Amino acid sequence: MKIGVLASQGAFAEHIARLQQLEVEAVPVRLPEELAGLDGLVIPGGESTSIGRLMRDYKLAGEIRDRAKNGLPVLGTCAGMILLARKTDTYPEPLAVMDITVRRNAFGRQRESFEAELSVPVLGKKPFPGVFIRAPLIEQADGKVEVLSRLADGIIVAARQGKLLALAFHPELTDDLRFHRYFLDIVAGHK
Ligand code: GLN
Repeated sequence: MKIGVLASQGAFAEHIARLQQLEVEAVPVRLPEELAGLDGLVIPGGESTSIGRLMRDYKLAGEIRDRAKNGLPVLGTCAGMILLARKTDTYPEPLAVMDITVRRNAFGRQRESFEAELSVPVLGKKPFPGVFIRAPLIEQADGKVEVLSRLADGIIVAARQGKLLALAFHPELTDDLRFHRYFLDIVAGHK
């Protein structure tokens, strides 16, 4: 199994390290030809405007959109989630492959960065440590989207649509590997 991690900008090295811990081949992706032969792709957190711009400049955006629409499993975390969305409040050109509406920098100054113990039924009983950094939230999820986790106040922070997985937080910054394993199970067709 070979997983690519978009390495234009942001927390890509951490995702690569987590995937290697799970003993899969994980490679950085900076150019369209590096998408060939991948079984899955991670779009990391960072700054969605920068990642989006670099993705377009390097002709990756259209390629990733087409592949995601044709069944390539994609995990988008934080800025990566913004890029998967169909619609966002301020970022004009997301890839629009998931039927979610996302609000950027949604938690305001007081809660710019925080950690929350998340209840995620698909991962089992033990809460998942959610690390939120200037995080977005999912404002709306259409019928085809499965909500995987909400904060105590009901805000959606994790969702899945087919083989696409969107997380508002940073699982690569914790040593809990369950979300990466869950994604690999999607890639392998077990989930
Ligand atoms: N605030 C960033 C954005 O809007 C996302 C932050 C992150 O990825 N940690 O793109």
